[in-house]
Amino acid sequence: MSHDPHCLFCKIVAGQIPSRKVYEDEHILAFHDIHPWAPVHILLIPKLHLSSLAEATEAHAEVLGRMTVLAPKLMRELGVTNGFRTVINTGADGGQEVYHLHMHVMGGPRPWAKG
Ligand code: AMP
Ligand code: ZN
Repeated sequence: MSHDPHCLFCKIVAGQIPSRKVYEDEHILAFHDIHPWAPVHILLIPKLHLSSLAEATEAHAEVLGRMTVLAPKLMRELGVTNGFRTVINTGADGGQEVYHLHMHVMGGPRPWAKG
């Protein structure tokens, strides 16, 4: 499924739910997390619906690679200069709450609210 009408992040991609966008291209969207754990906390998502990393296949390798390479660039642009954390929560025991794959990227001076 490329778009799930019930999926929160698909609705953000479609502009049906607002987000504070950081970056967008044909395949990837990045926006600020609504409940940040850190001074800078963004989410990178593929625009196509992919429920979790557990469902990823070879077909997703390129977009996942691009998201990973984009993370440090966006952190630099957001003024993060002293390191950052990347997290992909996967499945129930992984603490995943939104079932559209997303990479958390968190940075900024500590202490952080969480993490
Ligand atoms: P996870 O537990 O990895 O599935 O994380 C889901 C993340 O999505 C949480 O950090 C939430 O704060 C974030 N989130 C939920 N709804 C929104 C929204 N409408 N806009 C931005 N971030 C959101
Ligand atoms: Zn989705």
